[in-house]
Amino acid sequence: MSLIKATERVYFLPNEQETDRPLLGYIKGDKFSLMIDGGNSKSHIEKFNQSLKELNLKIPDYAAITHFHWDHTYGMHAIKGQTIGCKITNKKLKIMANWKWSDDAMKKRLLTGEDIEFADTNIRKEYKSLQSIKVVTADIVFNNELELDLGGVNIILRNVIAPHSEDSVIAYVPEEKVVFIGDAYSKDYYDNCKYDPMKIKSLATTLENLDFNTCFVGHSNPLKKEEIIKFLNSQYEQITKGDY
Ligand SMILES: [Zn+2]
Repeated sequence: MSLIKATERVYFLPNEQETDRPLLGYIKGDKFSLMIDGGNSKSHIEKFNQSLKELNLKIPDYAAITHFHWDHTYGMHAIKGQTIGCKITNKKLKIMANWKWSDDAMKKRLLTGEDIEFADTNIRKEYKSLQSIKVVTADIVFNNELELDLGGVNIILRNVIAPHSEDSVIAYVPEEKVVFIGDAYSKDYYDNCKYDPMKIKSLATTLENLDFNTCFVGHSNPLKKEEIIKFLNSQYEQITKGDY
């Protein structure tokens, strides 16, 4: 699978279930281009860059990170442009940057709850050698919100309240009527799969107030605005009714 053109200036590389690679986005400005998310490895980034080359698109000047989870950040070190993350994401990355990558150290982190089984399994599938794992922090850090003018197209990065993680960042592209939300819509796998109804409601309201047609999510096909709102509302209903 290679890069797909979604709108005049927006492209995406679909997610790959096999090693839990998330969808990567690309926004082409007149002056700068920006990618969404940092990929799960150097080879994920290389695949992305290769697919840009095939379409004659330049390597991104910036990469905006949607949240700290390994599959969205462990490729950051291989990104040529500057990486952008919110303050909470960077705090988490700083911790992971000190992790040791031996079989033993990984097993220990599962026991302490620092890491989870699902991530551990997929990291071992993605990496032939655990020693090649490299975690780095973002080059540019923001609090709450950051706007970028890429030339003819703007990006609004916003740390929002969402059930998936404290550091969930959405990237809104008003001119193209698209929003990238990473995994913001799903459970918090690092907190006993908690699915906080108030946070679901908050994310639904945030999205309802944005004018967009397409919502790009981390691990499935893009959704229409009404589909993501309907999904979040139905999750909220199920949980608050107690039959989730
Ligand atoms: Zn995630």
